[in-house]
Amino acid sequence: MNADSAPAPADCIFCRIIAGEIPSDQVHADDRVVAFRDLQPQAPVHVLVVPREHTADVRELATADPTLLPHLVAVASQIAAELADGDFRLVFNTGAAAGQTVMHTHAHVLAGTDQHESTT
Ligand code: C5P
Repeated sequence: MNADSAPAPADCIFCRIIAGEIPSDQVHADDRVVAFRDLQPQAPVHVLVVPREHTADVRELATADPTLLPHLVAVASQIAAELADGDFRLVFNTGAAAGQTVMHTHAHVLAGTDQHESTT
């Protein structure tokens, strides 16, 4: 755990996916992030890029591990190039009032022809 981040709740679903306790359709993994397809896709390519270390949201991540954000963007870019035409939207729902439902930092990568129609 990073000194600036709170401990992960025991029931964090993304921690459980990262640990392999819950299956996912993984498209990328490295020592810092895991990426898997969203169960309810809002675009032809809809992938979640999730830091391995638990933080609640991108505000907390930016303080706890600022070097992770450029890495996360590079991974999102690589995924959009591999799975779509390279263009993408990157969305961080941040806080319950903004629509965040899983309180483990994640970036939505939305790509493909109708990516601009999505509401995520
Ligand atoms: O940004 P927000 O917290 O709303 O997004 C959470 C996303 O996680 C949703 O798009 C949901 O479909 C996805 N999800 C998933 N697999 C799970 C649980 C949630 O892909 N097991």
